[in-house]
Amino acid sequence: MVTWINSILFDLRRNQALAEVVVIGSGTGAPSLRRGSPGLVILSENSTLLVDSGSGALRKMLEAEITYLDIDLLLYTHTHPDHVSDLVPFLFACKYAEKPRQEDLLCAGGPGFKDFFEKLKNVFGTWIEPRSYRLTIQEILQPHFLFRDLKISAKPMSHLRESLGYRVEFEDGKSLAVSGDTDYCKNLVDLASGADLLILECSFPEGMKVEGHLTPALAGKIALESRCKRLLLTHLYPVCDQVDVVQQCSQIFKGEIILAEDLMRIKI
Ligand SMILES: [Zn+2]
Ligand SMILES: [Zn+2]
Repeated sequence: MVTWINSILFDLRRNQALAEVVVIGSGTGAPSLRRGSPGLVILSENSTLLVDSGSGALRKMLEAEITYLDIDLLLYTHTHPDHVSDLVPFLFACKYAEKPRQEDLLCAGGPGFKDFFEKLKNVFGTWIEPRSYRLTIQEILQPHFLFRDLKISAKPMSHLRESLGYRVEFEDGKSLAVSGDTDYCKNLVDLASGADLLILECSFPEGMKVEGHLTPALAGKIALESRCKRLLLTHLYPVCDQVDVVQQCSQIFKGEIILAEDLMRIKI
């Protein structure tokens, strides 16, 4: 009986290809007990991506039962400290933790990322150099690339000169887009076109707009114009928890709006 039920469950799972997002950190660089620094794990049948790794991401991932050994691709939106702080601990763990990493690791970011990594190497030297696996540092200069079972597109965002937003398309046609930090820009609307899930930064509430970041209404405008199916608001400064940013966003975007929380899992 148990075997029979297990085989039905297995069949159900097999019919539904894995396409899931795990919010590792829904906050910013502002220390917060509720919200960790940015980090987002994207899971497909064949790949596990980590988009940004802010301070504490590596440890927070453990709470979602994801380790430094599980990540195949480390993808960075930009190199502000709240988005990259755990890269060094990640590589240090790959080398010196009790299970050294064996699998290849691709670590990629926008233009200038290689230079950024060289500077890290100047500081940390051999401590972050791989010993038991192959590390590839790559700058994403082309609009699309394939990674295992995923098609990944990148476009410049309106934040830092090298900032990139990403669109990830799964084998079964599902898709998601991630803004990283950005202000409103046409590139983001294009990147998110028709996406099943759009993950937008929402740094500050209405009335507190900061250049290079979105407010809930601007996030709503991007969601509306891109005709995405669902919207996830993340990168929330603590002040966002003092007002109803979802309500502010819903004035513009009438689809489903999800307020990110750390360790939230969303099926695409
Ligand atoms: Zn940020
Ligand atoms: Zn930033």
